[in-house]
Amino acid sequence: MQSVIVTLVVMVIVGAVLGAILGISDSVFHVEADTRVETVTGMLPGYNCGGCGFAGCAGCAQALVDGTITSVSVCKPSKPEAKQKIADYLNSTPGPNGETLHVTVD
Ligand code: SF4
Repeated sequence: MQSVIVTLVVMVIVGAVLGAILGISDSVFHVEADTRVETVTGMLPGYNCGGCGFAGCAGCAQALVDGTITSVSVCKPSKPEAKQKIADYLNSTPGPNGETLHVTVD
């Protein structure tokens, strides 16, 4: 009976220590999510054809938001009006760092 109690106490202590480590890691390594990626993904056609050179529309949106590419023209299936809307959105909506992008449609 005593070994069961010792085992339970050890498990509680180990759980508390690991929980504390996870909590501290979360606060130290916290990364602010850029909601523009999700918004731009929704503005792209959603064909996930890979024609832009990325695995899908979400990859293209991520590349636009992180500055890997600066033109919406990489998405050939997207209509000109949609491309302009994406560029206008990214050029006027600041990210987590408070800065906007300079995205073109050509
Ligand atoms: S080319 Fe356009 S539709 Fe095709 S995966 Fe890239 S962003 Fe999506």
